[in-house]
Amino acid sequence: MDLRQVFFYVMHTTCIDPLVIRQGWKMTFPQQNNFSITVEKQNPANITKASFPLRYGTYSEIRTSDYEFRFNLSGEIKFIRGLNTNWPHPAEQLKRTDGNDWVYYSVGDQSGEDGLISWMGEYYLPCLPYPSNPVWEVNYVANPNIMHGFAAWSQLYADLYGAKENRQHPRARDLIIRILEHDDRVLHERSQHLHTIIGERVSVLPPDTRHVDYEIIPLMIADGCLYHCDFCCVKTLQRFRVRSDTDILDQIRRLKDFYGRNLENYNALFLGNHDALAAGADRIHWAVCEADNAFRLSDSRPTTPMLYFFASVDSFLRSTHQLFEKLNQLPFYTFINIGFESADPSTLAFIGKPVSAPKVREVFCKMNEINAAFTNIEITGNFLIGTTLSPDHYQALEELLGSAPTPPKGKGAIYLSPIKDSPKKRELLPQFLEIKQHSRLPVYIYLIQRL
Ligand code: SF4
Repeated sequence: MDLRQVFFYVMHTTCIDPLVIRQGWKMTFPQQNNFSITVEKQNPANITKASFPLRYGTYSEIRTSDYEFRFNLSGEIKFIRGLNTNWPHPAEQLKRTDGNDWVYYSVGDQSGEDGLISWMGEYYLPCLPYPSNPVWEVNYVANPNIMHGFAAWSQLYADLYGAKENRQHPRARDLIIRILEHDDRVLHERSQHLHTIIGERVSVLPPDTRHVDYEIIPLMIADGCLYHCDFCCVKTLQRFRVRSDTDILDQIRRLKDFYGRNLENYNALFLGNHDALAAGADRIHWAVCEADNAFRLSDSRPTTPMLYFFASVDSFLRSTHQLFEKLNQLPFYTFINIGFESADPSTLAFIGKPVSAPKVREVFCKMNEINAAFTNIEITGNFLIGTTLSPDHYQALEELLGSAPTPPKGKGAIYLSPIKDSPKKRELLPQFLEIKQHSRLPVYIYLIQRL
């Protein structure tokens, strides 16, 4: 019996599932159809970084002998996890995003402090069903043991259809009806509706949204970006343009309606799209306050809500001290992520990014100053890695990160993003580890994820 089998044996024969002990169970109804329903289960709003399956917020759960299915408060399927020994690992699960992508959370094949947690800052690797920039690929679609989870979900849906007329507690019946109302077609349509509300799909989320498991409410306050860099695979062709008051207010109203009661499971706002900082202090402050009034993030949550958005080198450089003071006073903890890409002039020219290396260095210094000066603001930055980039790029990067001031409270992570034409293989990991060793700031890998 290997370690995984021992873990399963403990979880399923002696009922000392750590989650049961920690959370407590509410209103669980055994069913005749060989499944049990928990109508609502409360977890801490905050996400704990841990090696067991992610649990947060309030959700409903249905368990069969082989699978655990979790649903949000609207009755939409969110997670599927296998419970028998065929499932690859007890901490792994399938998660459906609000963009209707099924992402497989893998624990990777190298655990411990020098494994996945040191590369990603998390205990799991999101394996995506669409092309991205992974350091190593896990093709979960080719694993029949994982794909059986989808067949089990279809079977459960059919069983719920049959069970809805059975005698049962009204709350269990209500849940069954809510789930049946959200079949695969409806889930697809709802994701399309979300994209219609915000006017486009979010092609990339800030890396810092990993702290909330990428569960954010998107609000577009601007479109396009300042540079249209050649290397970039997430840009739009639009010129930078700030959205109107009417547009932003309309999004907020429709988003509130879209999320419904499930809004209470969100504790984070993302201001899109690629350079919200360029929209300016007044527009950001106004949009956040309007969204907060509507979504009641700051006055109804047990913890400080999070605010995420992107910035560019130029928008950050021209942002005044007053802007950061204004952001610092918001009832949010704000993460601003800057796309630096490189501090080497020839690399910036090679990737077609129209900023100078001295400007990158100036903004990098300003980033560290802001992180030291403001308690509610954290600035993070992105640089590229890839086998097609020159040694000068890596030397400039190591010098920059090696000379940074010691960050207060570990603030100011640097994310290394594999360039798209680099071999999508683990060959990049030694390079990553070398940069990490030379850096005085925390360094992680940036996996491009959409919504
Ligand atoms: S890297 Fe950023 S600034 Fe450059 S094209 Fe992409 S989104 Fe625009």
